[in-house]
Amino acid sequence: MAGAEARTQIGEDMRAKAAAKMTGARAAEALLAWYDREQRLLPWRARPGVTPDPYAVWLSEIMLQQTTVKAVLPRYTLFLRRWPDVAALASAELGEVLGAWAGLGYYARARNLHACAREVVRRFGGRFPETEALLRTLPGIGDYTAAAIAAIAFGAHATPVDGNIERVVARVFALTMRLPAAKPEIKALAASLTPKTRAGDFAQALMDLGATICTSRRPACGLCPLRPDCAAHAAGLAEVLPYREAKAERPIRRGTAFVVLRADGAVLLRERPPKGLLGGMLETPSSPWIAAERNGMADFEHAPLKAQWREVPGLVEHIFTHFHLQLAVYRAEVPVDAEVTSAASPERCRWIHVRDLHGAALPSVMRKVLAHALERDVRSGRAKPAARAAAAPARVRRRSA
Ligand code: SF4
Repeated sequence: MAGAEARTQIGEDMRAKAAAKMTGARAAEALLAWYDREQRLLPWRARPGVTPDPYAVWLSEIMLQQTTVKAVLPRYTLFLRRWPDVAALASAELGEVLGAWAGLGYYARARNLHACAREVVRRFGGRFPETEALLRTLPGIGDYTAAAIAAIAFGAHATPVDGNIERVVARVFALTMRLPAAKPEIKALAASLTPKTRAGDFAQALMDLGATICTSRRPACGLCPLRPDCAAHAAGLAEVLPYREAKAERPIRRGTAFVVLRADGAVLLRERPPKGLLGGMLETPSSPWIAAERNGMADFEHAPLKAQWREVPGLVEHIFTHFHLQLAVYRAEVPVDAEVTSAASPERCRWIHVRDLHGAALPSVMRKVLAHALERDVRSGRAKPAARAAAAPARVRRRSA
């Protein structure tokens, strides 16, 4: 950054801090009054006068990481019905939890959810600890989630800062520093706004405002309770803030997926190693996903058995946070006594009937592979229902990538 630009920015940021002191109490009051009238009705939120359930708050916060409210709602209800409290979730098998999570993406969250439930039972007798410091010692609970649970479930004076809150705060103070470098500054400014009482409601009010009014594109400033105190609105910067560093382009990785359909209608699936990307989830046996420069397509060295492989035209593409995956798909039909080769780790393989695929712990990318391979089968009457079953739980929109 050039010297003059840097000085201008520092000056602006100092003004922003001064403004924070002046407007914090007034902004909090206006926002809470708006929240009391306009809050979204969400099943994990306690009604006024009702004590929040820490299990419900925790479950919803984990599910909402990187995922939209709309996508979370049915899955949250399903989880709560199946595992109504933390002890019930702790006694579930990991595979069951991963299966119920399938389609929500970012599967490390599901593994941590299960591990966290077990730790809450083992270390805290089934009651969530109330402080941010103790909450942060649990699997899958970082700074944001600890602050959200402490504030919302236990009324602690804590300030969670998610993407929505980040955007609102950067705008209210017209912070021109770029994200992600601006994160600590935004956190401090958000804390300066948090009132001594109703910190949980205040956090949820900021979340709601960011989701419904102070949206990324075209914020509805005319409806906003913070408009009298909003520096971005006054400066005509509402639509452009917060500034962000340009994201590096995702690298491409490629691989080959092998879909094996047995004569009795079962499909060969393999459990991925417990740690790492999609750990513990099921996959169609596949080659390693390698950098596009090294090709990675049509890699029959990793085929799970000897068969007449037919290429399924087209590629399956999937965007992960850090890379873009392209998979070539090959399929084969085999007799019921077909044997998996030792190179394909048969101890991790299992056959699952196509009608049971919807309940299997398959990540979205593998549902796409199965739908792609089975949809195109014109000779078998099983093809279309099978493709539908494979694709079923994968229709989920992410809150961000
Ligand atoms: S006035 Fe506009 S930019 Fe400012 S917080 Fe409200 S919606 Fe966001």
